[in-house]
Amino acid sequence: MGRSKVNKYEISKSGDQLKRIQSMLATLEMYSMDNSLEKIEEVARKNKDTYFDFLESILEKEFANREQARIARWMRNAKFPSEKSIDSYDFSQQPGLDERNVRELASCRFVSRGQNIVFFGPPGVGKTHLSIAIGKEAILQGIEVKFITLELLVEHISRLDGPGLNRLLRSLSNPPLLIIDDIDYDEPDKIVSSFLFKLIFRRDEKNVSTIYSSNKPFKEWGPLFSGDKHKATAAIDRIHNNGSHIINISGDSYRFKSARRDSKTKTAS
Ligand code: ADP
Ligand code: MG
Repeated sequence: MGRSKVNKYEISKSGDQLKRIQSMLATLEMYSMDNSLEKIEEVARKNKDTYFDFLESILEKEFANREQARIARWMRNAKFPSEKSIDSYDFSQQPGLDERNVRELASCRFVSRGQNIVFFGPPGVGKTHLSIAIGKEAILQGIEVKFITLELLVEHISRLDGPGLNRLLRSLSNPPLLIIDDIDYDEPDKIVSSFLFKLIFRRDEKNVSTIYSSNKPFKEWGPLFSGDKHKATAAIDRIHNNGSHIINISGDSYRFKSARRDSKTKTAS
């Protein structure tokens, strides 16, 4: 239920004190305390808290709730296709991947340096998983994130006219961390190529970080830019600017491995 805007901060004199306090808290949108006020007061009395202790515990609770709501909101706005975390990634399945390096990236220091990450590797090795996991860590740290696949980008672009394209370009140029997943289009049309080129340039100019993932090495990115080698080279140069982190994941697909592991356990038992 949406709450209407407050017109007047009216102080009521009727009803019992708790109700009056709760009504004021609701007007001030301090919802978390609406329900737990009696409990907080009881605990404070038992602990013989000072007035300041009491006030602080109330404010801390409100802060914690608002932070939780912020994270949930930013996670929704990021449009991740699923929820993944660093801890749910099984590094033992990718012995060629440097776990310490990935965990360092998850600290998101690369974002404050305006650096990029590029994940390369065949399907199923966890490129998307790790991109989302790093994105989630960024959100926890207060960094806004947007996730998009190249396929979805192509779909958006096909539905937009000139001004719409400019708006999309602006909205994708702004977030401090953008994830462009699955860059494996064979030969997108010229509008898409030119959009992608501009987006890479804009983000580099603004010094904001992007995570790219692709199952094709850079040298096969030519067709993405309509076969224009100069454009491809220029775009890749921009991605490399500021020292980007190139992560090659070359092991087997996780699904393939876990299927094989399952069948092994079955034959063993
Ligand atoms: P890619 O983007 O490289 O094609 P995904 O990230 O989509 O691969 O991974 C496919 C599925 O396998 C996802 O559900 C992902 O969570 C899971 N997965 C891949 N690698 C691992 C791993 N090493 N540990 C745990 N889950 C993994
Ligand atoms: Mg993927």
